[in-house]
Amino acid sequence: MSGQPIDAGLTCPDCDSDFVLYEAEPGIYGVTILHDETCPTYRAREARINRLRAQIAEQEAHA
Ligand SMILES: [Zn+2]
Repeated sequence: MSGQPIDAGLTCPDCDSDFVLYEAEPGIYGVTILHDETCPTYRAREARINRLRAQIAEQEAHA
C-alpha cells in the first residue's frame, strides 16, 4: 500500500463529480456527492426521488 488513491465509490462515473465529507454529529460522518447539473445519473436520481415523493403524497391524500 503506497500512495494509491482511495476509491470508495464516492465519485460518479457519469460526470466530473466531487464529494464533500461532513460531520453530521460528533463521530457520525456523511458524504454528499456533488454532480454536474447535466449528469444523467443525477437527473435519473432526481426523477426517481420526485416520483417517490409524488407517490407518497398520493398515498397520504387517500389515507
Ligand atoms: Zn454524476
